[in-house]
Amino acid sequence: MPENTRQPTTVYIGIGSNLGDRAENIRVALRLLKRSDGIRLSSVASTFETEPEGVKEQPRFLNTAACIQTRLTPGELLSTLKDIEKRVGRTPAGRWGPRVMDLDILLYGEKIISGESLTVPHPLMAEREFILRPMAEIAPAVMHPVLGKTVRELLEEKEAGEVHSSGDGAVPDPDG
Ligand code: ADP
Ligand code: MG
Repeated sequence: MPENTRQPTTVYIGIGSNLGDRAENIRVALRLLKRSDGIRLSSVASTFETEPEGVKEQPRFLNTAACIQTRLTPGELLSTLKDIEKRVGRTPAGRWGPRVMDLDILLYGEKIISGESLTVPHPLMAEREFILRPMAEIAPAVMHPVLGKTVRELLEEKEAGEVHSSGDGAVPDPDG
């Protein structure tokens, strides 16, 4: 379908940085997103500082999430995001490692995609608090199309899970 006759889709983008001036990197990425053809930025969550997961020996991340409306296809959007990552200053490096800018497609409407270069919903969305926390601010009632749970429910489950799996057997102090 030609681009101008497609209905815009609501898409959530995960944004993270753990190298350089992280807050500035996020501001620049948001500015570039806003200026991109075919993208309308509709909301941005707060920024959260988070411990690295996966590869743990690296600086802490700043993470946020944004909601956009777009007529770009998922593939077109992924190329736009990769282009913005480069323009913010990302250089090729290993997966999970430190990066100036990481832009991930978390949800693309209710579409389910499992391609070689794109998996949507983002495969780690339900497991990573650094994705769920900012998303819960801007999209608490949005449904994960595979898990059939809202973002708020996924975050609550994740938080409950963290307490049970703290590993040291300590019971959290309700007053503390
Ligand atoms: P990651 O974000 O997984 O830590 P990268 O940012 O280096 O790692 O991305 C590696 C590749 O992941 C990208 O080149 C892209 O093709 C692929 N990918 C798969 N699913 C997604 C998604 N939902 N959003 C962004 N990239 C994705
Ligand atoms: Mg990425």
